[in-house]
Amino acid sequence: MAFKLPELNFSYDALEPSIDARTMEIHHSKHHNGYTNNLNNAIKDTDLDSATIESILVNLDMNNKGLRNNAGGYYNHKLFWEVISPVENEAISDAMLNHINTSFGSFDSFKDQFSKAAATQFGSGWAWLCVMEDGKLEVCGTANQDNPLMPNIGCGGVPILGVDVWEHAYYLNYQNRRVDYISAFMDLINWKVVENNYLSK
Ligand code: MN
Repeated sequence: MAFKLPELNFSYDALEPSIDARTMEIHHSKHHNGYTNNLNNAIKDTDLDSATIESILVNLDMNNKGLRNNAGGYYNHKLFWEVISPVENEAISDAMLNHINTSFGSFDSFKDQFSKAAATQFGSGWAWLCVMEDGKLEVCGTANQDNPLMPNIGCGGVPILGVDVWEHAYYLNYQNRRVDYISAFMDLINWKVVENNYLSK
């Protein structure tokens, strides 16, 4: 059973000017499509053929570089498209704000930690907001296409929000100004989806 490139819930130009249409098109139709196809090739005719992506990641042999990069790339981008929205009213609910406040003290403190993890991730990678076993929220970063579901990654829990800080995610529009891209991303977050991700863990 092959994985499919997920459809976006909005058009490539829907996030302009925060994320430009050309970046969205290349990112989705080339990069994510590439990870998806490579993942399918890696699991073809193996016992992972019918596994869920989560189970592939949780049970991953970290020395299997091809599977690690492409299963990570498939999952990470799928989450990324889901947690951004062009609709301005996807504001955070009081309930989700309470969860954030309990774990970080304040929304601004969460924003600072998340933005800092994204800005300081050296080279290519991701910053994450994760739910831990006890329901607490934590921020962390991973390199390349790694993510918190993978074993012994030094970043635990289940990711409910992620920002891609690979240059392919922002370079056409922002060049070296990653911090400006991160700041724009913060205003695109679809908190309804993040809250649903939180509640389904
Ligand atoms: Mn990417």
